Amino acid sequence: METSNNVNWSDLGLSEEMMTLIEKAGFKNPSAVQAKTIPLAMKGLDVLVSSQTGSGKTASFVIPTIERFKGKNGTYILALSPTREIAQQTGEVFSNFAKPFGMKVVVCIGGANLNEEKEALASSPHIIVATPGRLCDHLERGNVWLDFIQCLIFDEADRMLEMGFSKNIDLITEQISKDRQTLMLSATFAPAVEKLARKAMNNPEQVLIEKTNKTIPKIDQELFWLPEERKLTQLVRILEREKGSAFVFVNAKEKTFQLSRLLINRGIKDVTYIHSDLQQEHRELAVSEFKSGKYRIIIATDVMGRGIDVDDVAHVINYDVPKEAADYIHRIGRTGRRGLTGRASTFAIPGKDDKAIEAIAKLRGVQAPSKPQPGQRPKTAQPQRSRPVPKMRNVESMMKEALPVTPVAVKKLGLMGRVKKLFSFFS
Ligand code: AMP
Repeated sequence: METSNNVNWSDLGLSEEMMTLIEKAGFKNPSAVQAKTIPLAMKGLDVLVSSQTGSGKTASFVIPTIERFKGKNGTYILALSPTREIAQQTGEVFSNFAKPFGMKVVVCIGGANLNEEKEALASSPHIIVATPGRLCDHLERGNVWLDFIQCLIFDEADRMLEMGFSKNIDLITEQISKDRQTLMLSATFAPAVEKLARKAMNNPEQVLIEKTNKTIPKIDQELFWLPEERKLTQLVRILEREKGSAFVFVNAKEKTFQLSRLLINRGIKDVTYIHSDLQQEHRELAVSEFKSGKYRIIIATDVMGRGIDVDDVAHVINYDVPKEAADYIHRIGRTGRRGLTGRASTFAIPGKDDKAIEAIAKLRGVQAPSKPQPGQRPKTAQPQRSRPVPKMRNVESMMKEALPVTPVAVKKLGLMGRVKKLFSFFS
């Protein structure tokens, strides 16, 4: 995490009680985003913040808003989060800092019991954290009014818009007084985010921590050009060679489960998976078992992966290149957190993923890496064999077939693992 070298917590004008809670949380110094955002937000100003996951962004809006509204009765703070997991984590951070001030937090998320949430909302919480869809459900049912909200927080605004919450967001925003304070945090400032900021914010102060759309440093990024059928072997190699925790991203829900089975069949058993069709309790179990170290590897899609806050993921592997370049930034933000050095490996299929790789390079403001020419074999780190490589079965088709993988297929797959990284990606 990027810390602000010259700023101490004592410079931010916080109450003594808050200082004690910060010490208890173990936050030695404010992170850069906290040092800049907290003083502005405490003044009640609108603030538009460029912030990456892992930058300490949650506390940057939790701390000042609690300071502003502590000791007052009424539901004054509403935080919108893109996913259930992010909402839950934000709810936890709010609770940790709000409870000692006697403030109550309610989290409303899809998949949870509507009636229980309705009752919780009726108990006049001071803070509501919600996903936009679920909050609109409650609004339609008359379970909640937003007239009293004085501070509206959009967390990960870019992701909420990408997920199609635009209409829900408009509906919610319209019901809140224009005199409110609005805080908006976003990893990227895509045109849709700027449009929302213009519409929902009042002359906001801007906090730019590092040039927008840049990934955080200290992540060793590498790119492997390789055909689909060699991805599994490459993944197995990496996971066998490295003993640290790994986050593997795929682009389809069903692939999370299928790939976990293929890894288990290849002898890598400490693997779990998560996707949005799983029941909430199963998702929570997968995350907690990954966090506790029971499983070293988690396979996820973007929506799920985004919300998992784990401090020390050693390696992020993009088994599939993300469809949206911005997701690359979000994905690799899982590693290299808290100032630790992380690794990110991306598997790209020549001819299929070229455009996506170019888009990622463009987003990062670096030159696109060269790719193998048509007909040219991807370079390998091992000596080239002169005999032709036997035609391999496609992993995708294997996934569709009955599991487990047969020993013959495993043997064939073993022959496939000759693709090596071409160069350090963007470094
Ligand atoms: P976030 O960017 O809000 O997801 O925070 C990422 C991680 O950094 C969380 O585990 C926080 O508990 C932690 N964190 C937040 N602020 C600080 C700080 N000032 N010093 C150390 N760790 C922090």
